[in-house]
Amino acid sequence: MKGICILGATGSIGVSTLDVVARHKNLYHVVALTANKNIDTLYEQCLAHSPEVVVVVDETSAILFKAKIEQSPLSNLRVLSGEKALQDVATLDNVHSVMAAIVGAAGLLPTLAAAKAGKEVLLANKEALVMSGDIFMDAVTHAGATLLPIDSEHNAIFQCMPAAYQTGVSAKGVRRILLTASGGPFRTMPIENLKDVTPAQAVAHPNWDMGKKISVDSATMMNKGLEMIEACLLFNVKPAQIQVVIHPQSVIHSMVDYVDGTVLAQMGCPDMRIPIAHALAYPERFESGAEPLDIFAVKHMDFEPADLARFPCLRLAYEAIEAGGTHPTVLNAANEIAVDAFLNEKIRFTDIPVVIEKTMQAIDVTAADSLEKVLTADHKARDISQQIIETLKIT
Ligand code: NAD
Ligand code: MG
Repeated sequence: MKGICILGATGSIGVSTLDVVARHKNLYHVVALTANKNIDTLYEQCLAHSPEVVVVVDETSAILFKAKIEQSPLSNLRVLSGEKALQDVATLDNVHSVMAAIVGAAGLLPTLAAAKAGKEVLLANKEALVMSGDIFMDAVTHAGATLLPIDSEHNAIFQCMPAAYQTGVSAKGVRRILLTASGGPFRTMPIENLKDVTPAQAVAHPNWDMGKKISVDSATMMNKGLEMIEACLLFNVKPAQIQVVIHPQSVIHSMVDYVDGTVLAQMGCPDMRIPIAHALAYPERFESGAEPLDIFAVKHMDFEPADLARFPCLRLAYEAIEAGGTHPTVLNAANEIAVDAFLNEKIRFTDIPVVIEKTMQAIDVTAADSLEKVLTADHKARDISQQIIETLKIT
């Protein structure tokens, strides 16, 4: 039995992970679950999966959760709160695998702690990797941790890599990576209408059911920008070796193009339980609960290049990784603040790249050679983005 800790258990990836784990109770034992504020979902998850310990990060929600379990079958459950507790549960001795499924920068420290403790890290939290870059990859190498990608594209690329491939290594014979994208809900909307799209329209993704932040990122294509940076780090390739391909059907989840002309693709239904089950069972296979792909229902597959005028966020991501140092950290932080402001109707959809670009212009690139420098750049970018948002606010 492998012990598992799920960071961000109550989110979209967390829920899908528990769905897969429940199908393989003979192989996995849930040691720890964490949530920020969603104590109702966490409560139901605890009843179903009997974890040894939970973290409710938000202190007020933790008090409410403790009151909720007092007179229940969960009365003996250990409940921790605060950010530091996330690192404590991610590094417990009986935890073998850590699912990193917190959204945004909040996931960095616990995910990094898991890597430093030599755990098997199942990485969904792309923001943590983008903001810390080489620091994270070096931690994995030094601790001998196993890093398995959960993001569907990166999991697909990993599956198309040579046998026994390990993340962080440049695979021999790879010419380029074809990183697929659905293009999100606004792929064909007239560009002049983008300024009026609402949060509800932006989170309604045509193919995938995900958390709000990543859904907005998919609509701006910042998600693909973050994924391009994620792929550079996970597969040790240059940005020029990554071709973003719009593939609206989301049947192929990415491809690897080899020097001999072979192109390997991974296909399947758009269901995150597939990459989750792949990583949990790795190097073997087991059932995920996903529907088998009905190849006859697919009928045809389209591929087109991404339009950088429609999707300036993707251009900004290429600029950030080319500039290097702390620039991807700044890009990520500014994006998190801008997306939050858009979801709270403080700025327009088309202001998101404006906030990010202005923040990147306001901050000089410095070397990202220590965690301290990364966190300083992250905080500075958040402050500057907030100031820029004040000047843009919809009245
Ligand atoms: P979500 O919003 O549905 O869930 C986020 C989880 O993080 C919740 O459990 C929440 O309680 C927790 N959380 C939020 N803020 C926190 C904080 N400050 N401190 C501690 N915990 C906090 O998000 P999601 O869609 O499940 O995405 C999670 C991560 O996985 C993101 O990084 C996303 O980019 C990545 N990802 C998601 C999908 C998907 O299909 N949903 C696909 C690929 C990658
Ligand atoms: Mg993805």
